[in-house]
Amino acid sequence: MTIIDGKKISSDIQDEIAIEVKTIIANNGRIPHLAAVLVGNDGASETYVAAKVKACERVGFKSTLVRMPDTTTEQELLSKLKELNDDSHIDGYIVQSPLPKHIDEYKIIEAIAPEKDVDGFHPQSVGRMALNLPTYLPATPFGIVQLLERYKIETAGKHCVVLGRSHIVGSPMSILMARNNAYANCTVTLCHSKTANLKEFTLKADILIVALGKAEFVTAEMVKDGVVIIDVGITRVPSDKTKSGFRLLGDVKYDEVAPKCSFITPVPGGVGPMTIASLLLNTLKASRGEVYKK
Ligand code: NAP
Repeated sequence: MTIIDGKKISSDIQDEIAIEVKTIIANNGRIPHLAAVLVGNDGASETYVAAKVKACERVGFKSTLVRMPDTTTEQELLSKLKELNDDSHIDGYIVQSPLPKHIDEYKIIEAIAPEKDVDGFHPQSVGRMALNLPTYLPATPFGIVQLLERYKIETAGKHCVVLGRSHIVGSPMSILMARNNAYANCTVTLCHSKTANLKEFTLKADILIVALGKAEFVTAEMVKDGVVIIDVGITRVPSDKTKSGFRLLGDVKYDEVAPKCSFITPVPGGVGPMTIASLLLNTLKASRGEVYKK
């Protein structure tokens, strides 16, 4: 059984990007520039955005943090996005979610210029992904593809079962695994809360990608020997054994499931750290005009 070390792979990717940035600087090229829009002061969002800005610094990207109060109107946010769309110094940007309830998240996503949509959430990005055209892949699914690739996990002809159909993880993951690409070409089954006899499907999975948000949902009796497990779930549970007062659990009952696996991602340290690496890779692509010509 191999434990997939997402922390190491993310760090390797960031080191590789940092080398690319040094080359860009040596050639008097333009340094990639990522902007992040943070509306309100949600604690978790502050942490995520701070980590993204720090990662930009680490690899040598420029970054801009646009802070807006939680009283920001939808119109004010749309005007800010227009400024970012028109700003030729900014290669890509993200709007950190969740947004305050009075703002329609989909209206905001659609207002992001597709060529700057480094989160890969714009309908045009999703459509291009489905059509297997060059695009920005959403961060978490892109991170999972990177893990499969870096660990050279065989996927062609395998049965990949995805649990969960959210727009940010499960659905895009099912599309990516079915595409005619390296580290894809699977036969895919997408399961959700209305799936009958879920265990019948999980037991048939060669590759099981779990994105439910239900701590320790997948148990040893639900999987076959040799399965590859990608556990996306993150649930905080109270703990008196940690300084923070909580610990993180995945959607898979790790201790009993891991011995049956050929590969498994731990929580934390598996899929989670890959999100930032994906965002940086998308920003690099944007600055080079690899998806849309500059
Ligand atoms: P979500 O939007 O809540 O979607 C959960 C999905 O699970 C839904 O499609 C739901 O089905 C399905 N589901 C719920 N209970 C089920 C059951 N008993 N049987 C089968 N399917 C069931 O969640 P998400 O945003 O995809 O996130 C999933 C988990 O991944 C969360 O723990 C989240 O924190 C974590 N996450 C981690 C990262 C990372 O970087 N590691 C990134 C994103 C998310 P219905 O559609 O029928 O409701």
